[in-house]
Amino acid sequence: MNKMIENLKINDGKSIVHLNKAQNKFRIELNHKIKTNEYAFEGVSCAICGENSFNRIASKDRYGFYSPVSICENCGLVQLNPRMNSESYSKFYQYEYYPLYFGKSTFTEETFIWQYFRGKKIFDIISNRLGRSLKSSFVLDVGCGPGGILKYFKEKGNSVLGFELDKKSIEFGNSRGIDITDESFGKFEKTADLIICCHVLEHLLDPVSYLNEIREKLKKDGLFYVEIPLLENINREYFGEIAKCFQNAHVYYFTKVSLENLARKSGFRIVWGENLAYSLWFKCDKDEQYVNDFKNVNFLIDSYSGKARILLSRGKVINSLSLFLRKIGVELFLKRIYFWIKTR
Ligand SMILES: [Zn+2]
Repeated sequence: MNKMIENLKINDGKSIVHLNKAQNKFRIELNHKIKTNEYAFEGVSCAICGENSFNRIASKDRYGFYSPVSICENCGLVQLNPRMNSESYSKFYQYEYYPLYFGKSTFTEETFIWQYFRGKKIFDIISNRLGRSLKSSFVLDVGCGPGGILKYFKEKGNSVLGFELDKKSIEFGNSRGIDITDESFGKFEKTADLIICCHVLEHLLDPVSYLNEIREKLKKDGLFYVEIPLLENINREYFGEIAKCFQNAHVYYFTKVSLENLARKSGFRIVWGENLAYSLWFKCDKDEQYVNDFKNVNFLIDSYSGKARILLSRGKVINSLSLFLRKIGVELFLKRIYFWIKTR
C-alpha cells in the first residue's frame, strides 16, 4: 500500500496541511462536532453499482477529520463511506466550509476574476472543439459562486442564470449584474442550451439524482459542461501528494472510468474531455452497465508513492513563491495577468 495513504489509516486527528489561526479554529470546532455526533454519519450503498462491499484505504482526511475513504470492491468507485448525512453536510456548508477551506467567509474578487477567465475557456472549448455557436443561448451555472463564469457568457450575448446557496456570493454576483438565485434548482422549470457545473459533482451525496435533474433541464441537443478533480490528475493538482486530495467535502473521488460509469447511468455521453477534468456531455439513453475500475484504481493510488518526492519539491517552491507574492501585495495583480495569458 502507498506509504502516504498508510499514514491516513489511523485517525490521529492531526492536519497534514498548513492552516492559519482562523482556519484552525474552524477545524477544531468541526472536529468537536464530529466527535460528539452533532454531525452524524451514515453508511451507504455504492452510488454506481448499489453494492455494499468496500475496501477502506484511509480513515482521516487532510484536515484530520474522520473521513473513511473507501473503494467499492464491485465497481471501483472511490467514495466516503460512512459519510456525514445530508443534514450534517448542510450545516457544514453553512458554518465551516468556506472559512476552513478558503480561509475566508465567502468568495472574493479574486475568485470572480478566476471564474471570468474560466468562462472564456469554456466558451472557447465549445466554439472551437464542437464548432457550436453560442449566442442568444440560455446558460445556467449550478453552484456558480459569485458568477464570474456567467459574466463572460453574458458579455457574449447569452441569457444567464446562476444557482448558489451562499448569500454573500449571490450579493457579489448581483452587484456585477449577474442574475443569481438561491431557489432550488430542482424546482426550476425552464430548459437550457448549456448547463455548467464546476467542481460540484464530487461534493454531492447523490450525484445520480442530481444528474437526472440536469438532464431534465437540458434541451434535446443541449450541452452539459463538467469540471471535476480526477484521481488521474493528482500529480498536477497536489504535486503527487495523494493524501492531500482527501477532504471531507469531497464525497467522491472519480477516475475517468468511474466518471464515465456515472455519466452512462445518468443518461449522458461524454463527447469531449481534456483528461476528463474538463468535459462536455450530451444527453443519451440511460445505461446501467458499468466498467469495473477496481484494479485500475488500486494501481493508480499505489503509483503515486514513487513520483511524489520530485513533485513535492516543485510544489513547495510554488507554494512559497505564492506566499511571498501575497505578502508583498502583488499576488492578485500577477494572477490576473497569468489567467489572461493562460486563457488566450
Ligand atoms: Zn460500486
